[in-house]
Amino acid sequence: MNKASRIFWPVLVTPKNAIVKHTEQLSRSQKLLTEMGLVKPGSNGTFQIMPICQRVLDKCTELVQQNMQNAGGQKITLPILTPTQLWKKTGRLDGDISEFYMVRDRSGKQFLMSPTHEEAITAMLATNAPISYRQLPLRLYQIGPKFRDELKSRFGLMRAKEFLMKDMYTFDLSTEAAKDTYTAISAAYDHLFNQLEVPFVKVNAATGMMGGSLSHEYHYISAVGEDTLLQCQVCNYAGNAEILGETESAESAKCPNCNGVNLSQVRGIEVAHTFLLGDKYSKPLGATFLNTAGKPEPLIMGCYGIGITRVIAAALEVLSSEQELRWPKLLAPFDVCVIGPKQGSKEQQVAESIETELLSQLTQICRAQDLLHDDRKDLTIGKRLLDAKRLGHPLIIVVGAKAAQAEAPKLEIHVSGSEKQDLDREAVLRVVAAHIKRKRKLLTFTDNTETAPASMKQQSALFN
Ligand SMILES: [Zn+2]
Repeated sequence: MNKASRIFWPVLVTPKNAIVKHTEQLSRSQKLLTEMGLVKPGSNGTFQIMPICQRVLDKCTELVQQNMQNAGGQKITLPILTPTQLWKKTGRLDGDISEFYMVRDRSGKQFLMSPTHEEAITAMLATNAPISYRQLPLRLYQIGPKFRDELKSRFGLMRAKEFLMKDMYTFDLSTEAAKDTYTAISAAYDHLFNQLEVPFVKVNAATGMMGGSLSHEYHYISAVGEDTLLQCQVCNYAGNAEILGETESAESAKCPNCNGVNLSQVRGIEVAHTFLLGDKYSKPLGATFLNTAGKPEPLIMGCYGIGITRVIAAALEVLSSEQELRWPKLLAPFDVCVIGPKQGSKEQQVAESIETELLSQLTQICRAQDLLHDDRKDLTIGKRLLDAKRLGHPLIIVVGAKAAQAEAPKLEIHVSGSEKQDLDREAVLRVVAAHIKRKRKLLTFTDNTETAPASMKQQSALFN
């Protein structure tokens, strides 16, 4: 069980009347994360993740991982440093390179601190080329830091210069087979985003510097989103405004599918992206397989990214209020926070024995590591409750004066997003059990439909 008094939790204390110099634009959730000591700004656009937030990051990583394994993914780790030579071969150093971090080793050889790994993984496969068609499809993924020297890093973790990504690269023997892979990985993404229970939209996207022929983005809808998304009122086609080309503005846009002019618009935060790449990387880098006739052919690729730190930041932005963080159930740092009586209070002795029993009963229902005991007894219940609410624990249980009364003792339970209730201990335990059951159901949730479970009808409701 976790004790609040032991957690490293460097709350930001701003002295009264201090002039706060905002060097960076923060959204409301990012402001809360910083003030509550969950995340500390590092140097210039980087972030230091503190223990409570690290728990969230680990939970998100694990959830992404489960979904990738279910979709046939095999985990690997590639070096952060990729020789720039490889990027010259694919032509990707010819464009704008101002966002790349480049370093030299002592011999003068130049490397990219990889913003993405298409070249690196394709070159790795080329060293084993040709592989047999029998080894396909091949779905390899990694989870690690990525680097981008943003001109303006903004909104804390949402747009940082170093961020955590899951990137999967897939290899197939034909465009047909690569499309099947695309469908399978997209279904895994839909599944993951449904598990997170944050409303999302999936739109057609530009292929941009990645190249390829087919691309979709997953977005959380938010006013601080940097992308404009459009949906056609006639045929429901949804796309990022980028695909309409630079000459057209979102206002005068036409639906690329039916030419309709009645398009609704929202702002989105991109949290994931899928690409069908074809042979754009495999051809120049020589990643081939032997077909059934024994002839070498370039592998047909896809790539699939999820910004793990960004999913967390964006989900918080959508769910939280100005005063309180609110987490997706599966990502909350803890399930339950228990607050006992203050040191020296009248009810201390009676309430403490109830608190001890309650904690032991709770460990029978939820995992001890998902239980937080706010044992900072020198603080009033009110102060600790305020912290607990700002941290957004899904369930907060207060064992105070009402718990110590001889007649009909009550505990106070706060369920994130609803009014507090005074309940007896058995009823409180039932609320906790129901929460854990709901979480378990989300984790085992399976969806058999190959298409997006977020139906277009649902999606439409998210557009203005
Ligand atoms: Zn249309």
